[in-house]
Amino acid sequence: MAIADGSVSAAGRLAEVRRRIERAAKTVGRDPGDVSLIAVSKTFGTEDILPLLETGQRVFGENRVQEAAAKWPPLLDRFPDVELHLIGQLQSNKAEMAARLFRTVHSLDRLSLVSALARTDPEPDAFVQINIGEEAQKGGCAIADAPLLVDSARAAGLRVRGLMCVPPAGVEAAPYFALLAKMAQELGAPELSMGMSGDFETAVMLGATQIRVGSALFGTRAGG
Ligand SMILES: *Cc1c(COP(=O)(O)O)cnc(C)c1O
Repeated sequence: MAIADGSVSAAGRLAEVRRRIERAAKTVGRDPGDVSLIAVSKTFGTEDILPLLETGQRVFGENRVQEAAAKWPPLLDRFPDVELHLIGQLQSNKAEMAARLFRTVHSLDRLSLVSALARTDPEPDAFVQINIGEEAQKGGCAIADAPLLVDSARAAGLRVRGLMCVPPAGVEAAPYFALLAKMAQELGAPELSMGMSGDFETAVMLGATQIRVGSALFGTRAGG
């Protein structure tokens, strides 16, 4: 488990991130209320998550089904209005388990996962993850395959809320965010899950409706 940075309170960090979202949204004339902040709690334990829950944060993201299944049920008992989002790769054989925990899956990246998710009850909402930088090692479906994947997911009855991406590391993210926004518009899947601790303001200015922020809220992760 990672150790959260204790020098600033969770409430202080949350307030600062919210201030930055608001500033970025207003810069481009967007309503900050149209941006949902997903607090990415992967690798962090109950003692680090509780302060954010007590501050009122209710939307959280995890990247591993098993890790979430181990730590969230007792917290969900105490805070039943929490909404969990799966932001990491999902194996088809864990789709059932994922559907029981997560309201939304941000990593729908292949046809076999469409069939697996369409068989779950309840079915989670989906974001189709795009390998926006066309990187060999990166998750997400190829740009050219996105229309078929979105169509298939809809045909299978899944609610496709939009597109998700993790742009290439170490380069300016804006062109990738802009490309994702253009694709989402063309596919009629209007929501955009994009932006992390290092680039969420850029993402908000380019239309993100869901930003996934971990370290800016919890501190640096050990590994993970
Ligand atoms: C870990 C992770 C994040 C959060 O990253 P930070 O840089 O800590 O904000 C966002 N999205 C995905 C897919 C992740 O795996």
